[in-house]
Amino acid sequence: MTLFSDYHNHPLGHDPNRKYSLELLGEWLEVAQKKGLTDIAFTDHDRYHEGVNFDDFERFYETLPANIKFKLGIELDNDPETSLAGKRWIEKNYDKLDFVLGSVHFIGEWAFDHPSYKAEFENWNINKLYETYFKEIQKTAKSDLVDGLAHLDLIKIFNYLPTADLSWVFEETLEIIKKQNKTLEISTAGWRKPINEIYPSEQIIAMARQKEIPITIASDAHAPNHLGEDYNRLAEILKKHNFKEVAIFEKHKRIMRPLKDL
Ligand SMILES: [Zn+2]
Ligand SMILES: [Zn+2]
Repeated sequence: MTLFSDYHNHPLGHDPNRKYSLELLGEWLEVAQKKGLTDIAFTDHDRYHEGVNFDDFERFYETLPANIKFKLGIELDNDPETSLAGKRWIEKNYDKLDFVLGSVHFIGEWAFDHPSYKAEFENWNINKLYETYFKEIQKTAKSDLVDGLAHLDLIKIFNYLPTADLSWVFEETLEIIKKQNKTLEISTAGWRKPINEIYPSEQIIAMARQKEIPITIASDAHAPNHLGEDYNRLAEILKKHNFKEVAIFEKHKRIMRPLKDL
């Protein structure tokens, strides 16, 4: 497969009791090999950082064949209860991590992407909600701890779409991402959600391409078999928008790798 990287994955899923182990991580290696992926980043939610064990990752790393790299990252979100501890953990372990993905899962106390709290969308002016969400993304983009931004327009997840033209706020957000020298994630996860559309939308992808913002690609897998999901479809989108390379990371250093034969 032409697409060789997947930079958003959750071996710990949403299980607070799960811990890294050779067995757990080994399943991801098996699937990566089957799917021809050669550069994969683990980016568990920062609220589960206690399950991320550096020694176990190191032991796993030593089992890797020469042609496959796994990177250790984390997804730092804006959870009002846990993200402060997450930040402290990242600061403490920054040099051991390859990649920090920044994301927004909360508007205030509201976990808007959780199906249980979907009804709250009905209480919002959706145009205003998108503005509020993207302002929150802009804050994340300004964080020195973050290397790249995840699922940039996650707020569309349940198909509540703005009626106003919000290209100005997309523009403003992408300008900040560019200025802050961060990557933008293009993720197939949106195709598994009610919105059934890539993250971010092709409108945003086209704007980012024009600004030459570097991209990472990802599936946001919460189980090994989701690794690289819908990558053929993703390859079509990258081709359509004339992307020539994707970013990978090593100890927060961005390296651009060419996309051959797209
Ligand atoms: Zn996320
Ligand atoms: Zn995620």
